[in-house]
Amino acid sequence: MNEKMMKAGYWDAPNHMEVIQIPQPELGPEDVKVKVAYCGICENDAWMSTGEFFEVQPPRVLGHEFSGMIVETGSAVTEYKVGDRVACNMQVFCGKCWACHNGFEHFCRHIVQATGAFAEYAVVSEKACEHIPDGMSYLHASFLELTSAAIYSVERAEVKTGRGMAVIGGGSKAQLELVIGRQKGAYPVICIEPSEVKRKKALELGADYVIDPTTEDVREVVKCITNGHGMDNIIESPGDPKNITLACDIAATCATINLAANYLPGTTCTLDLWQLRALKQLRIHTSIQSPYMFQRAMTYLPRVDVEKLVTAIRPLDELNEAFAQQRDHEEFKIVIKPWDDDPETWK
Ligand SMILES: [Zn+2]
Ligand SMILES: [Zn+2]
Repeated sequence: MNEKMMKAGYWDAPNHMEVIQIPQPELGPEDVKVKVAYCGICENDAWMSTGEFFEVQPPRVLGHEFSGMIVETGSAVTEYKVGDRVACNMQVFCGKCWACHNGFEHFCRHIVQATGAFAEYAVVSEKACEHIPDGMSYLHASFLELTSAAIYSVERAEVKTGRGMAVIGGGSKAQLELVIGRQKGAYPVICIEPSEVKRKKALELGADYVIDPTTEDVREVVKCITNGHGMDNIIESPGDPKNITLACDIAATCATINLAANYLPGTTCTLDLWQLRALKQLRIHTSIQSPYMFQRAMTYLPRVDVEKLVTAIRPLDELNEAFAQQRDHEEFKIVIKPWDDDPETWK
């Protein structure tokens, strides 16, 4: 047996990763093998690693917010070559099913997942790769997936220039939503978040106001800030159904609310339908992840100072500690670096 091995963080039980040698993933004809430079711990990874999310269960290797260098290409790969610097989407759609033919590729019936990137190597379809432009670091590019989700969320919230935007929550995606909304010209931009660290970060990244829901009356403060009109665009980010009631209460007439968090099956919320229709005529949207956002996100990435969201860069050997640190809600983005040397020197 002459199987090539690699070091990987193998998720074998809730809240536990074993950093071990496993066989390198196999390469299909349309796949590329990526030497992982950086892989961010997504808020979803931290949540999924608890085993709470029924669709993703151990054993497997997690990690999808990654960048790296192509070291091998499948026989049918046409757009990429060995040595190319790429950032990747985790999912590839089939292009053949009903969902794909109707423009809902993110609901493809035959989605193929890339292998997890908390490892030295990951295998992904070339369709899921984006070239990293010259001058952009691997670290910066590892924010591609998160940025694409944030752009989609802001678009689903229908954020408009000169109109007020509120983000409920202050995690790393919420912070990017605030930055993107502000750059789109929303005003005022408000972050509603109980953690002082996260409120400070929101101010540093350009929020006009922050509100602490544990000590302030959010509804009254929003009224004061907006002359009684309320917020035009609201994003719910932490996944708390009570926030949806709050969003409706602080919404202006004809506002749009986007629910951008993970909600488990059976999660319900209370809506005052009179308020929703007759009083305000609100629009409630949801967003997950659109496959169309990645190229645009790569074009946009240089405009976002994503390094300000990096709390720590940790080696693969410290994956368990890094996950524990990410689950502590004071953190923004812990990034895993599987190799000891500086990826910027890779040739
Ligand atoms: Zn993610
Ligand atoms: Zn499909």
